[in-house]
Amino acid sequence: MSSCVVGRFAPSPTGAMHAGNVLAALLSWLSAKQQGGLWLLRIEDLDPQRSHREYADQLMRDLEWLGLPWDGEVLYQSQRTAIYEHYLHQLGDLTYACTCTRNEILAAQAPHESDGRVVYPGTCRGKTLSAVSSQRTAIRLMVPDEVIMYEDRVYGHQAVNLATHCGDFILCRSDGVFAYQLAVVVDDALSGVTEVVRGRDLLLSAAQQIYLYRKLGLPEPTYSHHPLLINEQGQRLCKRDKAMAISEMRTLYTAPQIIGMLAHAIGLTATNEPATPEQLLRDFTWEKILREDRVVHLL
Ligand code: GLU
Repeated sequence: MSSCVVGRFAPSPTGAMHAGNVLAALLSWLSAKQQGGLWLLRIEDLDPQRSHREYADQLMRDLEWLGLPWDGEVLYQSQRTAIYEHYLHQLGDLTYACTCTRNEILAAQAPHESDGRVVYPGTCRGKTLSAVSSQRTAIRLMVPDEVIMYEDRVYGHQAVNLATHCGDFILCRSDGVFAYQLAVVVDDALSGVTEVVRGRDLLLSAAQQIYLYRKLGLPEPTYSHHPLLINEQGQRLCKRDKAMAISEMRTLYTAPQIIGMLAHAIGLTATNEPATPEQLLRDFTWEKILREDRVVHLL
């Protein structure tokens, strides 16, 4: 067995951990551990307004209670600004300062792009630095009009053109907060992460990340995105659904009951019998993971 497989769980401490987060943690843990690898924990607390230490602390207690121990030191993105700065600098001429407001960007959208996605129209691409030097600006990465291709272990072949998917994207906000896309690439690469496992809401983000890996000359991980947990109305579970917070569920269920229900919902087991992550290791395989979003009936 190879010991160089490195998986990770990278939650944002912007709310209590919910069942969807547990699913991401469980699948990445199972995949890494089944291959004899390491499983790292990184707290993605880049945004000081939205991140709270109490959520991070609770999340760690929840992971321990669920039977999902991580390896090594926990990394906090809020402490790694100088590292992101260094890599941002390396991108040099591919980046530019942007002074657009969100409303200006929305006003410049073509009608066919009004599906909720915001595609940056490149307004600030040609601006000289002196024209913007008096203001605090966001930093964007120029993207080519080319298709980026990659394989996802669950959803198969992906082809994304960044120019039409998102346009030049933000690496650092105008308030100095580094963007998720840059931080996730730098941190995964520096931690030696070889496989990224997470919800399919980030399936297309992988294209932005792969582009960054290539421009920074860093080794790319493999990607496995899993279906999302939804409620009976078809809405994705989120941190606002208090009932799905693990801290609430802990008062009603044992950890093996929660793990067993999730394993069954995602296709890993035939019944929703209680199970520990350890017990699921033996029969874990990516082939069993279903692609459709899963309705869960936890409470
Ligand atoms: N921090 C992100 C989240 O909680 C996950 C990022 C990732 O796994 O790449 O949604």
